[in-house]
Amino acid sequence: VKAKLPFRKTVHEFDFSFQPSIQEKRVKEVVTCRYITSGENIVLVGPPGVGKTHLAIAFGMEAITQGYSTLFVTAADFVSSCRKAQEKGTVERCIQRWLRPDVLIMDEVGYFPFDEISANLFFQVVSKRYERGSIILTSNKSYIEWGKIFGDEVLATAILDRLMYHVTTFNIKGNSYRLKEKQKAGILP
Ligand code: ADP
Ligand code: MG
Repeated sequence: VKAKLPFRKTVHEFDFSFQPSIQEKRVKEVVTCRYITSGENIVLVGPPGVGKTHLAIAFGMEAITQGYSTLFVTAADFVSSCRKAQEKGTVERCIQRWLRPDVLIMDEVGYFPFDEISANLFFQVVSKRYERGSIILTSNKSYIEWGKIFGDEVLATAILDRLMYHVTTFNIKGNSYRLKEKQKAGILP
């Protein structure tokens, strides 16, 4: 199974001194992969550039190293593959694809809304993976805004309810690492 990680990032490359809102101890705990054995989820929330995707990938790489199957998908690709499956009548196969890996990484939830079909399929995926497989999810939106992402408060609450039952949340605050790099290079003031 291909993990489809978009690039390689490790926990060792992560500068914890730049991101004091993240406790290194909690990251180290995730790296043990115990959360996978117990079917727990990881949610990374915060503004752009604070390292959500970096950590999600780093966690995925650790999972792979320890022999767990892992699959990375952006919310945008999830939505477009759900739509295609709906058109082709292959929804069941589509759901199976998101259920198979031990760890499903869904990146960038919240940049744009899910349509009704994708929101429903995502609910099914979260429900069926519940306590059986882990989800690592990143979002730029806080939980109160999830109703808007899924176009339906009741559905968003149902998704959150299952996702958050056994979860480690990293609420990342602070400045974009990308901007810091640009400032260092003199591109930005
Ligand atoms: P986000 O997904 O939160 O928008 P990314 O994880 O894509 O942000 O981070 C943006 C870039 O900055 C990436 O190249 C990432 O490796 C790097 N980066 C972010 N935070 C850190 C950090 N604390 N230490 C090292 N690199 C970081
Ligand atoms: Mg990102």
